[in-house]
Amino acid sequence: MIFTNSKNIQLCCYCGTRKATTKDHIPPKSIFNKPRPNDLITVPCCFECNNEASKHDEKFKAYLGMHVARQGGEAKRLFKEGVLPTAKHNNKLRKTIFDTMRPVYTTTQSGIITGKAMSVLWDSEAHDYTIEKIIRGLFYHHYKKIIGSNASVKTHWFKQLPNGYENILYGKTIANGQFMYLYNKVDEANFDSIWMFNFYNGHFAGGIVTLHPNLKAHFISFLTFVVTWDLTGFG
Ligand SMILES: [Zn+2]
Repeated sequence: MIFTNSKNIQLCCYCGTRKATTKDHIPPKSIFNKPRPNDLITVPCCFECNNEASKHDEKFKAYLGMHVARQGGEAKRLFKEGVLPTAKHNNKLRKTIFDTMRPVYTTTQSGIITGKAMSVLWDSEAHDYTIEKIIRGLFYHHYKKIIGSNASVKTHWFKQLPNGYENILYGKTIANGQFMYLYNKVDEANFDSIWMFNFYNGHFAGGIVTLHPNLKAHFISFLTFVVTWDLTGFG
């Protein structure tokens, strides 16, 4: 609970208009295995935004878990203990995922076929919503300012985090390395900033905060990923 008084009302760090009456985890706590790491970041949030976020969090976790499971370790455990039970209970989500599955051949970099696998299309709405929320939350966490409707957030999916940014961006690692992020803000600007996220060393995304709503992104998004692990138990 966040305490407020009439002179100093804590506003929700997402909408920036309603009173914050709860806290939200950044990134969503459901993407981490239990027992949950104790260094997760929380931000002030209103009931409505928190409720809306929860709807997207489950979907994000499902796709993330499927995507990063190939990394093994905690990522694989997320798929087994976090995603499979969700998929079993959530028929709609399971159907959405299966509807986009297509058989593909896996190849080496030079194009030699190494096997068969299934590709999955990640629901970009669920992906981008959560990535944008993480950017807005972390922006508040680091700069104590609410983006709200003052600037727009453009999100991207990276195949790998681009090289060469390590020297100009701040880097932070939480949750035993399961979530890492890079960021920086233009000094003289209120909101213009860049954000890059690494989930379980297997999913990379990020975005920019900009005052220019029509600015075209210079990154290419890859929204299809290949499942190369055993899906037994998913259906
Ligand atoms: Zn809100």
